[in-house]
Amino acid sequence: MSSRLTLGVRVSEAFFSLQGEGPSTGTPAHFLRLQGCDVGCRWCDTKYTWDAAGGRASTIASAFAQLRALGDASLLVVTGGEPLAHPNVAELLAEALEAWPRVEVETSGLVPPPLRHERLFYNHSPKLPSVTERWADTWRHLPAYTSDPNTTLKVVVGDDPDLADAIGLLREHQVPRGRVMIMPEGMTDAALRERALQLAEVCKREGWRLSTRLHVWLWGAKRGV
Ligand code: SF4
Repeated sequence: MSSRLTLGVRVSEAFFSLQGEGPSTGTPAHFLRLQGCDVGCRWCDTKYTWDAAGGRASTIASAFAQLRALGDASLLVVTGGEPLAHPNVAELLAEALEAWPRVEVETSGLVPPPLRHERLFYNHSPKLPSVTERWADTWRHLPAYTSDPNTTLKVVVGDDPDLADAIGLLREHQVPRGRVMIMPEGMTDAALRERALQLAEVCKREGWRLSTRLHVWLWGAKRGV
């Protein structure tokens, strides 16, 4: 066994579902949710991950074994929390690429990408000023992300002034249209649909893609889906 597989990780949740957001929406996937985040988004739907000492202790090997026991999937989604701030995450991603054909990381972009690989994809979700005082920190490493063709920017838009801020920041940073997905903020069908209908028109105008929140539509605001 690789020595990397014996390294420790703090796991919040490990589950088998469909990727609910971003470019692989609808794809069956294993999800490994790591513990720890200090970005402080006001609408965060995983506040139970914020405490870096929370969750449960595991090794990379046992976390992967737990996922494999849930069924077969060709996609692993590493999420959080902020998974890239987690100790041993570079080793975890390197080992994940040995075991899954495609690996995606859901990140705020707080820290630079630790690894590049043709089968490793970053879904970088930089935050808007209304969401957290640390919003600028999540845009700081944008060039490192956008220089990797496997990165998609997934910007979550809620109430005003989010849309104007998103348009301004994406233009200021000259993010190519084809790399942007806009996703409505919301935890109910009604809220998501209302925002998505507005954002659909923006996507047509700006040439961006619209991301759904498939898991909320299918299962509601639940953990482990
Ligand atoms: S970065 Fe993600 S996990 Fe952290 S507070 Fe924001 S939404 Fe929650």
